[in-house]
Amino acid sequence: MKRYLICFPLIAMLLSGFPLSSFAASGQASSGALSDSGLLWLVNFDHSIPSDYTPSGLRGFSGTQQQLRSDAAVAMDQLLSAMKSAGYTARLQSGYRSYATQNYLFTTRLKKRQAQGMSYDEAHRATRLYTAVPGTSEHQLGLAMDFSTNGTLSESFSQTPVGQWLSANSWRYGYILRYRPDKQSLTQIGSEPWHFRYVGIPHAQIMYERGWCFEEYIAHLKETGFLSISVGEDVYEIHRTAEVPSGYSNVVDCSRDNAGGWIVTVCRPKDPWSEIRGHWSEPAFRSLLTDAAIASIETIEPDQPISRGQFAFLYASILEPAQENAPAFSDVSADSPYAQAIRTVAAAGFMRGSGGSFSPQRTISRQEAAVSIAAAIPGQDLAYLTYSDTSSIAGWAFQSVQKLSFHGIMQGSGNAFRPKDPLTWGQAAVLIHQLTPFLQQDSGVTSAGRPRS
Ligand SMILES: [Zn+2]
Repeated sequence: MKRYLICFPLIAMLLSGFPLSSFAASGQASSGALSDSGLLWLVNFDHSIPSDYTPSGLRGFSGTQQQLRSDAAVAMDQLLSAMKSAGYTARLQSGYRSYATQNYLFTTRLKKRQAQGMSYDEAHRATRLYTAVPGTSEHQLGLAMDFSTNGTLSESFSQTPVGQWLSANSWRYGYILRYRPDKQSLTQIGSEPWHFRYVGIPHAQIMYERGWCFEEYIAHLKETGFLSISVGEDVYEIHRTAEVPSGYSNVVDCSRDNAGGWIVTVCRPKDPWSEIRGHWSEPAFRSLLTDAAIASIETIEPDQPISRGQFAFLYASILEPAQENAPAFSDVSADSPYAQAIRTVAAAGFMRGSGGSFSPQRTISRQEAAVSIAAAIPGQDLAYLTYSDTSSIAGWAFQSVQKLSFHGIMQGSGNAFRPKDPLTWGQAAVLIHQLTPFLQQDSGVTSAGRPRS
């Protein structure tokens, strides 16, 4: 994502043919309409570009005659460096081509075929299978590069190690293998294992993962109007609209698709609540954790077992943070996201280590959790237990379970308590949330919980 944010102000500067003032370096769009980067222009036999279209800001590559648009060139540098690290090399055979060059290429090849005895129609059909008709070449956009190993473009490139590496990895740098053999009926171009088109991340990743050619990608967006994908810590949302887009925020790219629509690419941090939203434990989590707190730890899966360190993290959310003299444990590193919470819960006497260790990774059983929770509840009111598995509750946990049962805090499932089952994240959140009123009554060591606004 960072690479993308660096690129698009460049795009904005480059494409002088369009009004481009509304992108800002922060990735936020201004309130007005968004301008067109041209990154996602579909160019094929049915979708041409004007003969006078020239991308601005073309950039060369040392040791070659080839050029690309600057944003594509920056991504190409990264691709080439990764290719080199993987132990492969390829020649940059053909990058930007003007309309005039494409016209010359096409006409020359067409005439050659006519000279060999083909009719104009036959020659035209045969030529356009591998040489785009002028005005329908992606090379004119400055966003496409042909690779070779020996200076000639050949279908056998797909069998070379570097050809295979490119087709498997180009998407990581925003490039798609544009003309696949299995998509010929849609692209109307024969297999070209050497031709790669820059569309940027996340579009290249989506097409790669779903096995779509560019035509299918645009068709899907036309039909649904929306797609989203997670890339690292970010979520990209891709919107397609027939109107000139305005009012979007966190925009990283906006481009017409050359097929009657606009594609707006939005990027924002992953929603830390996505796993919890709609779960029965969501209200408890919301009462315990702020957005920042939930984003500071790994993904919460409410139906999965919680570890002792994670349990301490939830528990500490209702306690005053421990002072400096709190106990330290040999197996809790200072940079663990749970370190402070573990010290807090241990200082309050609600969780204990053993022999200087806390075992933060170990799951916590339901009866262990009962002991920990009951420790925060004053008084000695105990209920008579009628669970079907009462006899399997450990002696050291029995009174704690009785105490929680008296206060209606921890019920079993059906008629069973299941003392040895691992406690889940969701159960932990609900248990700890129910402690809040007890801690607010208690003026002792734990003092009041921290209410959230
Ligand atoms: Zn090409």
